[in-house]
Amino acid sequence: MTDNKTGEQTDPGIAKKVEVVDNRVANVELANVMEQEQGVKIETLAQALESGRPYMEDMVTKRNEFKRPYRESLQERAEKLGEVETLRELQKQVEDLRALLLARTGPNPTPEQIMWAQNEAREGLLKLAHVARAFTRHHRVPPFRVGGAMLALRKVSEEDGNPWAVAFAANTKVDDNHDATPKGEKWCAEQYLMDLVAEPTSPSETGIYKILSFGVVAEPRSDDKSGKLHETLTPCAICRDRMVYDPKLTGQAGILSLETEIVTQSVEDPAAKRIDPVAHLHGMHGESIEVD
Ligand SMILES: [Zn+2]
Repeated sequence: MTDNKTGEQTDPGIAKKVEVVDNRVANVELANVMEQEQGVKIETLAQALESGRPYMEDMVTKRNEFKRPYRESLQERAEKLGEVETLRELQKQVEDLRALLLARTGPNPTPEQIMWAQNEAREGLLKLAHVARAFTRHHRVPPFRVGGAMLALRKVSEEDGNPWAVAFAANTKVDDNHDATPKGEKWCAEQYLMDLVAEPTSPSETGIYKILSFGVVAEPRSDDKSGKLHETLTPCAICRDRMVYDPKLTGQAGILSLETEIVTQSVEDPAAKRIDPVAHLHGMHGESIEVD
């Protein structure tokens, strides 16, 4: 069998892999945008293959590594922004929501109870996301504020018998001195929430095995990449790629699935709300996804 690009002999297994990766790499434009604007250098198809990961998984992993120095914890931000009280208040709301869900489902929720909890928690997630916008750090005046919240299931332990995990976050765009400047690297509310699961930093974040919902509250604006404007702000290209391809969360990891829901609401018009499964995010921007 001959690889039609290089003319070299390849075994059928490799050829199939190249084909799959080729589909994913078809969006050369995306790779260029990534390299120029986000500092992530994805070399060639061959190098992506060499890493042993498919192209998109490799790209998402490299981007996560590249962005790590540009992230800032909620605690640090709360102190810098004089919002320590707001942080405490939201942490209290998180505990209230978790207690409410536990009281109704107990420590081992059935599939029906999980569906109930997902419905029940939507408004609470949007409220948390709305207030979490206080923790944005962004150079614009006023800042471009995006708040996020997440409902997930975690393994119960002796210390904490509550299977419900709830968290909130907000976007940042800070430089390597952690100053909010136009030269900063953006990191989204949704990314911070995914970080909690993929790279937990405290005991309360460990053991999350299923993300059910994200809530996102922001002012709608055209998508950085597709240019499409929806009635609410839905996840950007970086987020939607990670939601489908992060090897720590998706696929065999099974934590974030194509059914995970994204509940979004406009700050300008709170009646503008939508619920989209991860499976639909790329399509909403004229993109397609490759799923094995
Ligand atoms: Zn994003």
